[in-house]
Amino acid sequence: SLTVVGSINADITATTSRLPAAGETVGGGRLSRSPGGKGANQAAAAARLGARTRMIGAVGPDTDGQAMLQALRAAGVRIDAIAEATTETGTALIMVDADGENQIAVCEGANAEVSLDGVEFSPDEAVLTQLEISLDLIAELADRVPGFLAVNAAPALPLPAEVVDRADLIIVNEFEYSQLPQLKTARLVAVTYGAKGSALLRNGEQIAFAEAVRANPVSTVGAGDAYCAALTIGLTSGLEPERALRAANAVGAAAVEVASAQPEFDRLATYLPALD
Ligand code: ADP
Repeated sequence: SLTVVGSINADITATTSRLPAAGETVGGGRLSRSPGGKGANQAAAAARLGARTRMIGAVGPDTDGQAMLQALRAAGVRIDAIAEATTETGTALIMVDADGENQIAVCEGANAEVSLDGVEFSPDEAVLTQLEISLDLIAELADRVPGFLAVNAAPALPLPAEVVDRADLIIVNEFEYSQLPQLKTARLVAVTYGAKGSALLRNGEQIAFAEAVRANPVSTVGAGDAYCAALTIGLTSGLEPERALRAANAVGAAAVEVASAQPEFDRLATYLPALD
């Protein structure tokens, strides 16, 4: 089973013909609300890929919080360990123009109140986390998780050394990898290269690479999250490194073909036969 510890955000998107400059107002926007946050996206993906998944996080006492919980429940995620915080649900205010160029302001809200108090971890469960919750909490996970610990080091922030030493898997994109030289010493690192594919590095040495699966991209939002869920499930269920990379690439490719950050994936095994 898998526990995702991480962020839950309401994504509020205004699509306009062009992005406003500082001090400017642009009219004619189209508004949409959708579930997001790296933690919630990864939990939803993991559950849909077939892993027994629970999420540890926090939402605010508001309608966005209820909607985010409903989206996780619909994906099959166990939500009983998600706390109701006193601050508002985490929110990403997104502006997108006709070319898909965006500007995003994140208000962490309830995500700042995520806590591991009273949470028990068992040795046979994998834990997957990201850096949209406090680094102190990630350090606490490094101390307390007895089983497989995967850290998606996104957004790019310097990781506490104890986390780099303890993590069984660190997942980053090419940009994050370039920002975090400390990952050269990490035990196992997956680096994603968008439409080029992804690689696994052990102590800075590449041990496997897999080309991306060809896709017709609609939105790359959530592709990295789906990839993280798939790779963690693949590696912890015993797939060979290259096969796990290929399965995760196939899931990432499926994710870019839909607009939602929480797409309706099939079970992970269905992405495998296509590879053979
Ligand atoms: P992030 O979204 O975190 O920056 P990437 O863009 O590297 O991460 O995407 C994560 C993974 O999703 C890639 O390694 C790849 O497997 C898949 N992916 C992303 N973009 C594409 C694409 N255009 N075509 C096919 N697969 C893609």
